[in-house]
Amino acid sequence: MAAPRLPPLPTIRDILKLYKLNAVKRLSQNFLMDKNLTDKIVAKSGLTGSQVLEVGPGPGGLTQSILKRIPKRLVVVEKDYRFKPTLDMLADSFAAINGKMDIIYDDITKINVESLFPMEEKRDWNATAPNIYIIGNLPFNVSTHLIIKWLHAISEHRGPWAFGRTKMTLTFQKEVAERLVADVSSHQRCRLSIMAQAWTFPVLRFIIPGKSFVPQPDVDVGVVSFTPLVTPRTQHDFKLFEKVTRHVFNFRQKYSIRCIETLFPLYCRKELGLMMYKLSDLDPTLRPTQLTVSDIDRLTTAYKYLVEKHPEIGLYEYRASRHLLPLSNTKDVVVEDYTEMSEEMSI
Ligand code: SAM
Repeated sequence: MAAPRLPPLPTIRDILKLYKLNAVKRLSQNFLMDKNLTDKIVAKSGLTGSQVLEVGPGPGGLTQSILKRIPKRLVVVEKDYRFKPTLDMLADSFAAINGKMDIIYDDITKINVESLFPMEEKRDWNATAPNIYIIGNLPFNVSTHLIIKWLHAISEHRGPWAFGRTKMTLTFQKEVAERLVADVSSHQRCRLSIMAQAWTFPVLRFIIPGKSFVPQPDVDVGVVSFTPLVTPRTQHDFKLFEKVTRHVFNFRQKYSIRCIETLFPLYCRKELGLMMYKLSDLDPTLRPTQLTVSDIDRLTTAYKYLVEKHPEIGLYEYRASRHLLPLSNTKDVVVEDYTEMSEEMSI
């Protein structure tokens, strides 16, 4: 029997005209008009006859490319209700060949995504990835916020990652896409690179020129796919690891120890900063961009140890306070702890 095919659908240009849809600046709407490019995003996502979540379908260009692959089910989450007629039309066309497309009008950053997938798709974390794919061409500010939120969920096997190592393919401003995949010593290496690479294998698939969008954004766009790692490069709690990583990149041009020192109040900064490097067996003159994920993992282990010994250190916030927090007998405790911790960490 021949594979089902979608009935012919109007182009996005015609849809925008037909339903009088203008891009809304407030929602950073830029529509991708080129069918070859939306097909390419879907091809790179690797999706087959699967469960798919598309975030921000808008008028449905990318949605059409997903539907052409005849997924088992497509769920789209769109904030802007004006797209109802065009999304309904796509859902009806898919229903005509017995396909199932559900439309949710909501904010992707606020909804419970876990409830969208059926339990039978659940896989063990160590097994091959489940038949669930997340795809989205979102506004830049939303996708950057979302990737941090979703990396956190990956680290705790929550949401779509309660089903296993669900893959996702998202668009970002080109510079952000390059940062996400930036390797050690690259000048684009930053907090995002470390966070993404600690829990996933991010790949920059291709660049879409800004001129392919209507209206045209000021920048080009990078398509990045993320596969969660079976064994993350850190076992630390997401927030703790993120805190140390954030501090590591406080001053990009300085020695990384200057950045790490900002984890501590002024009066014990030098001493505890140096101790972190000794405990981690790292050269304090390494620049932030030269640190590997594993180096930052070791620094986090050292920081966690110090915070467990002296919880008041953990309360110190470099940006929030320029005042000194009292820390009694730091000097004595510090010297004693260093020996003890070296043994515990066996480094
Ligand atoms: N996917 C379409 C395309 O490729 O042409 C539209 C892309 S446009 C850059 C981003 C879409 O995401 C818009 O339709 C916008 O309304 C929607 N959007 C923006 N913020 C959103 C959010 N927080 N949750 C869900 N959708 C959102």
